[in-house]
Amino acid sequence: MSILAHPEWPLLKRHLRAERYARDTGSRGARVRLEVVRPTDGRELRRLQGIKDPCVTCGAIISKVRERGGKRFKGRLYFSPCCPQDVSLACSRSPKASQEYLAIRAALADDADASTPPPSAQGDLFGRKH
Ligand SMILES: [Zn+2]
Repeated sequence: MSILAHPEWPLLKRHLRAERYARDTGSRGARVRLEVVRPTDGRELRRLQGIKDPCVTCGAIISKVRERGGKRFKGRLYFSPCCPQDVSLACSRSPKASQEYLAIRAALADDADASTPPPSAQGDLFGRKH
C-alpha cells in the first residue's frame, strides 16, 4: 500500500522534502531521497516516527520515518517506503519502490503551488546547505 493512503500522510507530507542525490550521475534517472524535516512539536515528531506501514516490496510492517545512523547525520530523519537496507537491499531497489518514490514526488509537486513549505534547515548528505 502506498503511503499516500496512510492516515498520517497529510502530516508527513508537510515535512517531506525530495532531494536529489548530489553525486548521482547514473543512468537510472534522477533518484531522490526523501528527507523529513524534524518537527519542533514533540507530538508531531512522535506521530511521524510512529508511522508503520507495509514495505511496498515485501509487505513487512516497518517504520517508514527513520533516523539516520552514524555520527555525522545523527538525528536526521528520512522517509523510506521499504525495509532498511541492512535488512533487505532488494526491497529498496524494486520497481515497486521506484513507483512509490515517483508517486510521492508527484504528490509533493502537486502541492508546491498551494502551500509554502517551511524552510529546511538541513544540509544535504554532504553537509552543504541548499
Ligand atoms: Zn521489504
